[in-house]
Amino acid sequence: MQSYGIKSLLEKGKDLVLQEVVVCGWVKSFRSNRFIALNDGSTIHNIQIVVNFEDFDENLIKQISTAASLRVKGEVVESQGAGQEIEIIAKEIKVLGVAPSEQVQETILQPKQHSLETLREQAHLRFRTNLFGAIMRVRNSLMFAVHKYFNENGFVYVNTPIITGSDAEGAGEMFHVTNFNLENLPRTTDGKVDYAQDFFGKATNLTVSGQLEGEAAAMGLGKVYTFGPTFRAENSNTTRHLAEFWMIEPEIAFMHLDQCMDLSEDFLKYVITYAMENCKDDLAFLADRYTKEQQTKPAAERSDLGLMERLDYVLNNKFVRLSYTEALEILKESKPNKKGKFKYPIDGWGTDLQSEHERYLVEKHFKTPVILFDYPQEIKAFYMRLNDDQKTVRAMDVLFPGIGEIIGGSEREDRLDVLDQRMAQFGIDSNELGWYRDTRRFGTVPHSGFGLGLERLVLFVTGMGNIRDVIPFPRTPGSAEF
Ligand code: ATP
Ligand code: MN
Repeated sequence: MQSYGIKSLLEKGKDLVLQEVVVCGWVKSFRSNRFIALNDGSTIHNIQIVVNFEDFDENLIKQISTAASLRVKGEVVESQGAGQEIEIIAKEIKVLGVAPSEQVQETILQPKQHSLETLREQAHLRFRTNLFGAIMRVRNSLMFAVHKYFNENGFVYVNTPIITGSDAEGAGEMFHVTNFNLENLPRTTDGKVDYAQDFFGKATNLTVSGQLEGEAAAMGLGKVYTFGPTFRAENSNTTRHLAEFWMIEPEIAFMHLDQCMDLSEDFLKYVITYAMENCKDDLAFLADRYTKEQQTKPAAERSDLGLMERLDYVLNNKFVRLSYTEALEILKESKPNKKGKFKYPIDGWGTDLQSEHERYLVEKHFKTPVILFDYPQEIKAFYMRLNDDQKTVRAMDVLFPGIGEIIGGSEREDRLDVLDQRMAQFGIDSNELGWYRDTRRFGTVPHSGFGLGLERLVLFVTGMGNIRDVIPFPRTPGSAEF
């Protein structure tokens, strides 16, 4: 007797007719005391189990209800009904776990429409829903594609530390890591917290990026990438920010910014294509949800493309590339700016762009993803390569429809003297980053890299609107449930 996951069972389809099989899963619905829709999470589709109730004990039938878990042995037959190719005539049913309906009623397992907020409150149960199941399988597919892409292109996967001793990058946005008794902190004679007595003998934090260590690795391994959890204590309660998210950061020796833009575009197109080819059913379901959701929106905010068209559109168009300065001119002359529609009006050169500006460029002006480059040096990080104009750095941001910034990257400052100057300008203690300076002291080379937030990518591909809905257990300001 062969056990099957429901996905492979449905894929084999009619080849299995007349065979006895075993399947396990959870009851999605039980109609007319006769038809069980069973799902095991391997696919969005259910297998129909036909129960001839004369063959079974009445008490057993009573235990079969929505959300209960079952092991079913039975015979595969061609389905009489519409909607499925095959079904299973149950011979033996074992109820592995019951789910009393009065308990189910209180939860999102109750088969009816629940709001996304309600699903979030029951994050431990939402894995069981069609929607979250589809999102998680797409997420998985994208993560796999990330590794596949880099592996096929000769990158080495390196793991950078999660606990970091340098706070140069994310001053103020970092979570402290300590094993001090917070009720009784050791103090130095001048009353400051004495970090020398802490676990690592110094103050430590959760990392906001693996980049600096990634650069060190690239200076020996050539092409590397990191893919790990990243933490930001920024208090931005938006639909695009999490306090804990997963970041993909390639870093490439001997690469200039133009090639890095090529890489980011090629990489994004590859992983999106992979998910489209490998998650067809889940994406069909998500596309349907997306279309219905668009219809509830005011006309001005509605997207005129369906989810799949939107993905195709990104794949089939070359990303527009323009400098920050050029973008600023477009924004300055734009209708919403002239009519005072931007929350942050565009005034002088040098201000940071807000999400509303990024989305205007992508969604209204160019109608394609945009890569902006050469940003004012004051608004970007110290490690970005200074241009000859002394005003801008070789930074790039990839901007996507509905999302805004999906990738941030740069060519790194490879000249030690300029790096030192920039660190001084940003008030960064060069002793603390001595190891980073060393990478420029022993055979420095031009190099570039970028960071992609996995969840922003999953948001885009699934058409979801809130980043809390594309990660299993979201961490946001004021919320660390489960
Ligand atoms: P933003 O301006 O959107 O806050 P950022 O400029 O702070 O982003 P970077 O430091 O450039 O972000 O990080 C690289 C990438 O990581 C971003 O392009 C984005 O995809 C992702 N990212 C950054 N912050 C978050 C966050 N809080 N939650 C989820 N993803 C994030
Ligand atoms: Mn950025």
